[in-house]
Amino acid sequence: ARQQARAKAQAPAIARDGKRIQVFANISSIADAQIAIAQGAEGVGLLRTELLYLDRTSSPTEAEQFEIYRAIAQILANRSLIIRTLDVGGDKPLSYLGLQAETNPFLGWRGIRFCLDRPELFKTQLRAILRASSGYQIKVMFPTIATLAELQAAKAIWAEAQTELSQAGISFDKNIEIGIMIEIPSAVAIADKLASEVNFFSIGTNDLSQYIMAADRTNPKVAPLADAFHPAVLQAVQKTVQAAHHAGLWVGLCGELAAEPLAVPILLGLGLDELSLNPQSIPQIKQIISQLTTQEAEAIAHSAMQLDSATQVKSFISDSPLFKG
Ligand code: PEP
Ligand code: MG
Repeated sequence: ARQQARAKAQAPAIARDGKRIQVFANISSIADAQIAIAQGAEGVGLLRTELLYLDRTSSPTEAEQFEIYRAIAQILANRSLIIRTLDVGGDKPLSYLGLQAETNPFLGWRGIRFCLDRPELFKTQLRAILRASSGYQIKVMFPTIATLAELQAAKAIWAEAQTELSQAGISFDKNIEIGIMIEIPSAVAIADKLASEVNFFSIGTNDLSQYIMAADRTNPKVAPLADAFHPAVLQAVQKTVQAAHHAGLWVGLCGELAAEPLAVPILLGLGLDELSLNPQSIPQIKQIISQLTTQEAEAIAHSAMQLDSATQVKSFISDSPLFKG
């Protein structure tokens, strides 16, 4: 029975009409990777690398990072591993990196903005990711992209890291895919242009919601406004999926919305190719996917998008036969 349960956990998520949607895990450590596999993750859609830089007095070296990325890749074997480059700043300040408290940290020096201003620190991480990629399904992902210029600058440093490794005779996956988080409204607006520069998108609804609603996700007085179920956020998700598919890219979603049972019909209906979520929620999300057809999900998504509030969207879905019956 235990073996049967394990086999069931490892089964892919397939809707009733046969449509597949990949269910990946969000992780931050080697221990998380093991949990993710046990919970049936088909891959890792978001490895947050901030943890490697916390609780220390200097940045992790290329060798230290390589060891950790490689250990996680080994646990995942032939599954995808999307490594997101450092996303400090905002609510994650780090004094040894010169990051100080700011008046508006979420509008401040964070994520790719910080890394592009510290190219040596950034390149060290990129070299570690490239070195770990040889023989594994690693992909790289840049956070907080707001402009085309940022993406192009990040790619230039990525190309430099590859040239350096090639010249040193160090092997890496020459076909490694690159992607970006879509989590800033400007990136949604120019998604068609960004799409021509990358292999995939992953939508970060945690940040996208707070930026669309102008409500700090860490401030309890206003955080409830930053609800990813709000039709304004759902429209941004829809627009991003359409731009990705129009350009022939696959698109995932790695914000907390992906772990919400009530969001499954919307996300399947909008055509997301992958969902990445905390490992504990994977079995439940797979189970809900298996109860829906794409057509039913599309109808639910279409109706939900016409509503006036996040609350209305959630009650509309919880009243549907899928959740009532
Ligand atoms: C997001 O913004 O939705 C996301 C997944 O990234 P983080 O929560 O690490 O900012
Ligand atoms: Mg984010």
